[in-house]
Amino acid sequence: MELFIQPIGRLINEFSKLPGVGKKTAQRYAYKVISMSAAEAEAFAAAITECKRKVRYCKVCGNFTESEVCEICRSRDKSVICVVKDPRDVVAMEKLREFKGVYHVLHGVISPMDGVGPNDIRIKELLARIDGTVKEVIMATNPDVEGEATAMYIAKLLKPLGVNVTRLAHGIPIGGELEYTDEVTLSRALSERKTL
Ligand SMILES: [Zn+2]
Repeated sequence: MELFIQPIGRLINEFSKLPGVGKKTAQRYAYKVISMSAAEAEAFAAAITECKRKVRYCKVCGNFTESEVCEICRSRDKSVICVVKDPRDVVAMEKLREFKGVYHVLHGVISPMDGVGPNDIRIKELLARIDGTVKEVIMATNPDVEGEATAMYIAKLLKPLGVNVTRLAHGIPIGGELEYTDEVTLSRALSERKTL
């Protein structure tokens, strides 16, 4: 006999696909949904489908956007580009309210162990953005093995193009992630960045 009637079992299965959600938590979430009013449950489901329908990648920087080109790319200083691993890192940097340039989201880092090579992340797209107007590229990948290797690899490609390549200063714990770095530390890492 199944432990749950089919619709509940299905919902638990869907919730358990989320990161960090085990069977028990998925069950709790499912029961919570069942206890919602019909309107609340509709709003919940609609938020998921709306995200899938409306959110896409900015064709310039690769960050999430609702339009073809994101608000940051449309309105900010394009002479400084901050290169990050994924859209969550853009959020971490934006929280500082200090950085006035634009971003480039790689959507990953080079990781031979995981079969991710330079062509699997958005490096070509970054190189295509480098013209005479770009003064500095800040490598803000995480200070772990893959993040460092990716920063070095990209710096090597950028230098011949005559652009100043910098790296966030240490202070972010080695092996740490931008996303989980407190704002004071991240802010200092940004202001004390070093030329690569
Ligand atoms: Zn953009």
